[in-house]
Amino acid sequence: DTIFKYLSGSDVEAQYHETIYKTMIMDGLTDVHNKKYLVEALEREIPRARRHDRKLSLLMIDIDYFKAVNDTYGHLAGDAVLKDVAGGLRSRLRPDDILCRYGGEEFAAALPETSLVGALDIAEQLRELIEEHPFQFEGEKIKVTVSIGASELEKEWNVDALFKGADEMMYQAKSDGRNCVRPDRPTESEPESTPDET
Ligand code: GH3
Ligand code: MG
Ligand code: MG
Repeated sequence: DTIFKYLSGSDVEAQYHETIYKTMIMDGLTDVHNKKYLVEALEREIPRARRHDRKLSLLMIDIDYFKAVNDTYGHLAGDAVLKDVAGGLRSRLRPDDILCRYGGEEFAAALPETSLVGALDIAEQLRELIEEHPFQFEGEKIKVTVSIGASELEKEWNVDALFKGADEMMYQAKSDGRNCVRPDRPTESEPESTPDET
């Protein structure tokens, strides 16, 4: 029932298929993956993490007051900022991490083999990187910050639950004043110093 067709790498048709595939899995503006790609990757990663008893974390990253960037500097400036934010986030993540543009001015990053403590460390680095990056458009300096929610996969969770956890914490970061990172549960960075319960 299967017909195989040989296409050499330099073939125009092979390039055509490559382009179509890229269009399906990448976001056109920012050149990071799209939401569909991340969701499908997580549908594979979650059972794998569970099978091998490995951690998996997710970050939801939303640009703060982005509407004001558009209103003040125009949509083209907004688009340029989105591209630069995506490039900045990508540059700080590991090759195995999956970054996607989740929606308008919102990104999500799946961090395989990463606990919540590790995810918070990376999220804080991303937050700082964006805060300190000198965004510019046509000579105008633009101040940009992000709010980040972090969530670690729980045993029974599916893709939706993982997104929900990170998303709720992103909104928590917004209501806590923005330009900050919030985890979906308390983390103990020094467990050995926890006092005994008597
Ligand atoms: P908050 O800190 O609460 O997240 O405020 P916000 O202004 O970032 O959030 P809000 O949801 O009010 O506005 C998001 C804005 O993002 C509005 C929309 O026009 C803009 N946006 C979404 N997608 C794009 C895009 O592709 N290009 C540009 N330039 N703007 C976009
Ligand atoms: Mg926003
Ligand atoms: Mg948003």
